[in-house]
Amino acid sequence: MSNLILKVKNLSVDYTSNNSFLYPWEKTKIFRAVENINFEIIEGETLGIVGETGSGKSTIAKAIINLLKITSGKIFFQNNQISNLDEKNMRKYRKEIQMIFQDPLASLNPRMNVGEIISEPLKTHYPNLHDNEIKKQVKEIMDNVGLLSNQINRYPHEFSGGQCQRIGIARSLILKPKIIICDEPVSSLDVSIQAQVINLLKELQEKFKLTYIFITHDLNIAKHMSDNIMVLNLGKIVEINKSNEVFINPKNDYTKKLISSIPKI
Ligand code: ADP
Ligand code: MG
Repeated sequence: MSNLILKVKNLSVDYTSNNSFLYPWEKTKIFRAVENINFEIIEGETLGIVGETGSGKSTIAKAIINLLKITSGKIFFQNNQISNLDEKNMRKYRKEIQMIFQDPLASLNPRMNVGEIISEPLKTHYPNLHDNEIKKQVKEIMDNVGLLSNQINRYPHEFSGGQCQRIGIARSLILKPKIIICDEPVSSLDVSIQAQVINLLKELQEKFKLTYIFITHDLNIAKHMSDNIMVLNLGKIVEINKSNEVFINPKNDYTKKLISSIPKI
């Protein structure tokens, strides 16, 4: 039986600009970044979210992990409403939904070594865990993402972009989450490295039965990764369907335009 793991219902997010460069009367200007977003994800599947820069992809990601206050709508994790929970009540869901970011180096604390970076979420959620156990789990996860355990005392700047992304992936996996939101995880990497990271993510999905939200502006990668694809334009869903359907039989003009602009390879 297929289980629903995440459900987003009528999600809208407004940003208010408080920018000091604005005139006083503009200061509380409200900008609607995403509007009336609806989707569901079955456990173990991947939802690809595609759309141009500024279409609201990261806003949806941040709304799901409660990094921002949503304006309206509801988000459910396995039937539990998790939208706008306070930090205390959100805590148990934080373990379940993790995120991987676009710029691997910038998302890692330069003053922490690999062991510290990967173990930080573990220490936060399980403060009584013994050092040996932490080390064991960190080494295990490093092995799973293709890092050598003797690199545990190295610092982020000593690694390539692809390796930094592996560190980020390890950190996202250490709490054994059910969902990982990958926000343009390979966009900043060389094309040759992209495939390695993509394949690693696929492999990890199998191994740990992960559910992915895979955000990208690259339709080829979206197609390769996703069971279903949601196409966003200016904060609204223009199409959501089985991945193949979106490509073979796009319903929407904007989707057709996006598809026709894909470089053939
Ligand atoms: P994407 O990830 O698809 O590039 P985002 O979700 O980051 O898009 O942004 C959607 C829109 O919201 C953009 O127009 C962006 O400029 C705006 N935006 C994003 N974050 C903020 C913020 N913190 N304050 C104000 N506007 C924002
Ligand atoms: Mg983004």
